[in-house]
Amino acid sequence: MPLAPNATSARDPFLLPVCDCGGPMNLASLEPHATRSDLELKTYKCLHCGKQDVLTAKKRSPDVPR
Ligand SMILES: [Zn+2]
Repeated sequence: MPLAPNATSARDPFLLPVCDCGGPMNLASLEPHATRSDLELKTYKCLHCGKQDVLTAKKRSPDVPR
């Protein structure tokens, strides 16, 4: 019997974050970082309790100034 396809995906770091309440978090907004042009702020919102979490992520754009 093959492994369940979603057995490990819950811990995949590339997936959306999970709220403290255990609910899934959706990307609510994406905006540029205030002082770092190579970073961006990702605001995630929990679908269950409405809690918001802001994560800083490095941009993937190839035109990052050095
Ligand atoms: Zn929550």
